[in-house]
Amino acid sequence: MDPIPLPAPTPVPPSELADDRLGGVRLWLKRDDLIDPEITGNKWRKLRHNLAGLSPDRPLLTFGGAYSGHIRAVAAAGRRLGLATVGVIRGEEHLPLNPSLACARAYGMRLVYLDRSTYRAKDTPEVVAALRARHGDFHLIPEGGSNAAGVRGCAELPAELGMDYDLICCPVGTGGTLAGIAAGLPPGPRAVGFAVLKGAAYLSGEVARLQRDAHGEPTRNWTVDHGFHFGGYAKVPPDLAAFAADFEDRHGLEVERVYVAKMLYGVYARARDGHFPPGTRIVAVITGRRTFPQPSSPVAPTVLD
Ligand SMILES: *Cc1c(COP(=O)(O)O)cnc(C)c1O
Repeated sequence: MDPIPLPAPTPVPPSELADDRLGGVRLWLKRDDLIDPEITGNKWRKLRHNLAGLSPDRPLLTFGGAYSGHIRAVAAAGRRLGLATVGVIRGEEHLPLNPSLACARAYGMRLVYLDRSTYRAKDTPEVVAALRARHGDFHLIPEGGSNAAGVRGCAELPAELGMDYDLICCPVGTGGTLAGIAAGLPPGPRAVGFAVLKGAAYLSGEVARLQRDAHGEPTRNWTVDHGFHFGGYAKVPPDLAAFAADFEDRHGLEVERVYVAKMLYGVYARARDGHFPPGTRIVAVITGRRTFPQPSSPVAPTVLD
């Protein structure tokens, strides 16, 4: 089976933002949110090589939290490629399903749940073996799609830019996107990732490990900024919400709150505090969208056992 083909070139060249609050920093947006309405941004990039050449005799199985964009993306990709999908969700089932899981369900994904302590051990051979015993054999895609294949997909981004720049910025969850983008940079520009989780000091080791797995060795052209997690994953305090709403008003584009808002806030703050000097040319990668379409026609559930 072929990999998911990339769409016609993403709607770049990146567009420059006019905003006097940037203190002389020049900012362009790379609109990866426009790659595809259902499989957006970095999720498309990370799934592309993960789904290449898979046999349709087994389902895709992957992991995520109850609001995971990765879960939705895998469900949508499975439907498009004709592969059954199983989503292993952290925590207990809550009915009715939240909109994110309802969307995954409507794409035909089968949802199963793991209590939090078992979920933490999801990468161990014991838990994987128990999942195989219960659900049969499957193609396993790690949480967030962050593995060597996912990193290689993200490494394709810089070649699409077609412009000169000094820095490229992205949000950081698992670190796969930053690992890939940095690995794909030409000599010169550097990558800065903005961590959205609190206390994520382990991330630098994780990004280096992902780069080693994907490309043999880590690059030295990236850093992680830990100053803009706003209290932790999915926390949106009022100043962040106000910034995102104001950005939407000024620039007419939806700002996804969990990841993209924190990165953009961080870029503006670092421009204002002089950390990014005036004249610096920055590309910010808009890695996803705030809203997602519900599949128009609910798909019949896929029966696996
Ligand atoms: C999943 C996601 C990320 C996180 O990417 P990682 O590769 O896990 O660091 C960033 N932005 C958006 C919009 C996402 O949905």
